[in-house]
Amino acid sequence: MLQKLANMQWANMRDIWPNLSAYKCPKIVACGRLTRTAGKAYQTTRIIHIGYKFLQHSREYYSEVVNVILPHELIHIADFDLFGESDLPCGHGKTWRAMMKEYGLPANKFHKMDLKT
Ligand SMILES: [Zn+2]
Repeated sequence: MLQKLANMQWANMRDIWPNLSAYKCPKIVACGRLTRTAGKAYQTTRIIHIGYKFLQHSREYYSEVVNVILPHELIHIADFDLFGESDLPCGHGKTWRAMMKEYGLPANKFHKMDLKT
């Protein structure tokens, strides 16, 4: 399910940035250990971990993960594919922020989801 959604989002990203056509959609793995970060992108292995607990928490969190976190992480990989290493160690550098905006999302580093509520 998550992979299918990611494939669709990656296809949209390829429409925006045609040079991405040379790169395969990252692999999405649901991860039960993530409790603060909702997603994590590994640029060299092209794997994205998505926090399973956030998906299960509520409809609201599910949709935030799918519509915001997933593209956020995909854009980390796409940013690396197109522009290489980020100018910031956290990865939320200039090119990542520009790509988020171009994709139609605010360039927020953090989410406000809390699994304890
Ligand atoms: Zn990020």
